[in-house]
Amino acid sequence: MTIPNTHLKQSRRFAVVLSALLLSGLGSLSVFSYLRSRQQFDRQMVTEILPLTSDAVAANIENLISQPVLASRLAADNSLLVDLLLGDDQQPREIASYLSSIQRSTGVATAFLVSEKCRRYYGPSGLVRTINPASSADQWYQRFIDSGRSVEINIDRDPADPSKTLAFVNVRVEGDNRQLLGVAGLGVDVDFFRNKLVAYQHAYGARLLLVNKSGQIVLTSDGSSGNLSRLADIGAQSRAILSRPKQALQLATDRDELYVNAIQIPRSGWTLVVIQRPNAEEQALRRLLLQNSVAALLIGCLLIVVGRLTIGRDQEKLQQSASTDNLSGLLNRQAFAAIFEELTSRGSRPDSGLAIALMDIDHFKRVNDTYGHPAGDAVIRAVAAAIKTSVRESDPVFRWGGEEFLLLLPMSNLEQAVARLEALRSHLRATEIQLEPTDARTSVTLSYGLTLHRPGETSAAGLDRADQALYEAKRTGRDRICVLDQMGLNSPTS
Ligand code: GH3
Ligand code: MG
Ligand code: MG
Repeated sequence: MTIPNTHLKQSRRFAVVLSALLLSGLGSLSVFSYLRSRQQFDRQMVTEILPLTSDAVAANIENLISQPVLASRLAADNSLLVDLLLGDDQQPREIASYLSSIQRSTGVATAFLVSEKCRRYYGPSGLVRTINPASSADQWYQRFIDSGRSVEINIDRDPADPSKTLAFVNVRVEGDNRQLLGVAGLGVDVDFFRNKLVAYQHAYGARLLLVNKSGQIVLTSDGSSGNLSRLADIGAQSRAILSRPKQALQLATDRDELYVNAIQIPRSGWTLVVIQRPNAEEQALRRLLLQNSVAALLIGCLLIVVGRLTIGRDQEKLQQSASTDNLSGLLNRQAFAAIFEELTSRGSRPDSGLAIALMDIDHFKRVNDTYGHPAGDAVIRAVAAAIKTSVRESDPVFRWGGEEFLLLLPMSNLEQAVARLEALRSHLRATEIQLEPTDARTSVTLSYGLTLHRPGETSAAGLDRADQALYEAKRTGRDRICVLDQMGLNSPTS
């Protein structure tokens, strides 16, 4: 019979609380570390990774632009060209030959010249048309001149072949005293820049936009167009993005978070906007959190299991030994209260009887006196074993005093209890006890005081009746069962 000790119950409850604390502690630790690492990730993204990406891409774009810009400057700074523009007679053939030689030597899509004096637009094949200030296709000319800038890049249709969109590098052609003579430059295939942007997008895993000063998208790696302020995700922040030469922002959109970096590219009038979504990294972080939590829970469970196996087992052993009598191996008196409580608690079936039997070895003193105390101990052990073999395994047996035993018989009425005690009696009668350490053998008898527990009464009341019955068994000759029930004392033993 295991001991349903309240201490054991309490310590189990304590272990459950401790386990819950441990698991919630480990759980919150992993959530905390997830939030910390996300915060760190955000900070690193905004202050380090993305600026590095943006700087690298911006430097590359600047480098790409610098070549056609330099070539355009050289073309515009040519004395032959200046002479051609200063001359009263425009010489389309010479101009065309000059432009086509520059186009060939630089390998770009086109070269062009606009004469300020007669507002004619020339290409490598000669005169294309006369600039018309009212035409939207030609407004770039006046705008560029009015801007006062010496160079600009403008993405536009090629006046010589309107099916093509080119990046025009416009350079002022000036005579003595900075007198404006016209605008010359090169037209570079836009795909050259676009392909580079797409390559950077793949390399850095970020979306790239080139926008001009008014926020108009000039080139993208993802095909978006229009004004930056019209973009669904970052449009609202377009003003902030373009407000400074360098800008780093972290934006929360409906769906996710965005890291935005903007950097102005010198000499182009463009701003590079780099947009990164933290999806891949965040997914990795979420996975990490899940792995952490699972690991934490596993460790927690492992700790609980190990703790339960070691501490729990030790504790149960301790409880067991605290409730066991050393000499007989039976339960001791300390174990009684909890077991009695368990057997008579509300959980037990009300119709189940509980028989209480107190048993005392007859003339035990004689054994001690004749064979010595150790031989007396051997008798106690032998009687304990005899009782155990005669009752059910679930019937608790206690060593109640020196040579006195208490037996509880749950789910038993008087008749059944008497039958069991009779079985024990006859078993004892047939048992010869080796009186170790002597060679002598003897057999002993018990006197039995039996009663039934009455629902609602204390254990002391039942024990007292059993004791009275035992006294009666002793008084009336020993080796007998005496019952004290509602009818009073009686002895069913013949
Ligand atoms: P009765 O039939 O009236 O019970 O006679 P008894 O001799 O058994 O009764 P009594 O109470 O006079 O004797 C009990 C003796 O049991 C006295 C005590 O020294 C002895 N005793 C008590 N505990 C132990 C023990 O652990 N070992 C041994 N060997 N003897 C013990
Ligand atoms: Mg005795
Ligand atoms: Mg006694």
